[in-house]
Amino acid sequence: RLHNALVDMKGAIRVFARLRPALPHEAGLPLAIECDSMGAVVDATTRMSGRAGGSRHCRFEYDTVFGPASTQDDIYAEAAPVITSVLDGYHVCMFAYGQTASGKTHTMQGARDDPGVNFRALDDLFRLVAARSPEADYEIHVSLTEVYLEKIRDLLNSSSAPNLEVKHNAFGSYLPGLVEKKVTSASEAQHWLSVGLAARASAETAMNTRSSRSHCLLCIRTTGRSRLTGDVWRAKLWLVDLAGSERLDKATVDRGPDASKRLAEAQFINKSLASLGDCIHALAVRAPHVPFRNSKLTYMLQDSLAGGSKTVMFANVAPCERDAGESVCSLNFAARVR
Ligand code: ADP
Ligand code: MG
Repeated sequence: RLHNALVDMKGAIRVFARLRPALPHEAGLPLAIECDSMGAVVDATTRMSGRAGGSRHCRFEYDTVFGPASTQDDIYAEAAPVITSVLDGYHVCMFAYGQTASGKTHTMQGARDDPGVNFRALDDLFRLVAARSPEADYEIHVSLTEVYLEKIRDLLNSSSAPNLEVKHNAFGSYLPGLVEKKVTSASEAQHWLSVGLAARASAETAMNTRSSRSHCLLCIRTTGRSRLTGDVWRAKLWLVDLAGSERLDKATVDRGPDASKRLAEAQFINKSLASLGDCIHALAVRAPHVPFRNSKLTYMLQDSLAGGSKTVMFANVAPCERDAGESVCSLNFAARVR
């Protein structure tokens, strides 16, 4: 490896929580989630159901907690060292986890005038590649995939097979037939990202909740070669906007249109999110068996999650009391993966 890691991660996993502000349409609603000024603790209050009423307080601790006033700059500043260590040869996975409308896409993708991690990471990577050019050459490829109903679709290939297969070789996992665009600048990479996201959005009109019901994975694959020694190192950076984690019970789904499809979506999502949590946790505690094969998501990310890689999990939460049950679930999920 050419450089030392830019950060001293204690363990290979870092967990952040991000509490978004109340949105204009939520003005006046009672709030249930607060975070402390130290930036490490989240307090949640959930109202107990049933006649007894009352409320329950829970406290969660993370590596860092970002409150409603935190900016995309704040988020990226914290994530940047981990993201740039991909150029040193570390596989890196970053996930945004949370219920629909909790701020996952805002965190990863952001808005045109307020870009999130994806765009900033690409800018940073190419800036570093340029700075390192006296010592090393890098080749960078980007790809964008979606996992929906446990099927993997290539968002950069309009004639993509409906379900790409996951294979593993000496270099790790790969998807035969996947389109990977070789890019030489951040703007070129961002262009392909926009193209893929537009393809994802157009599939959405046919099935309007699809983007919240699927995982979206940006993969930035880097190959570095030392100009001095000719050594080659490879690493993948995965930036993942996960499907909404909300629990849909059968009763809720049964009443709606497309009930069977909604139920299938919910079951696949539950299974893959649970398996993601199980794998990260098993790796963190060095369990002898890591259940990568339990979902497409983890099977695809297997080598990028395992040994020597770095994982960052964002728990995105909404502040309102009506969402407190889901927020507590997300906060629990994130607290237990470490
Ligand atoms: P998700 O991807 O989890 O479904 P979104 O990222 O789409 O949620 O966020 C839902 C809405 O909340 C969007 O309109 C988004 O712009 C807004 N939002 C999310 N996080 C923030 C934030 N930190 N600051 C301001 N607005 C936010
Ligand atoms: Mg989203």
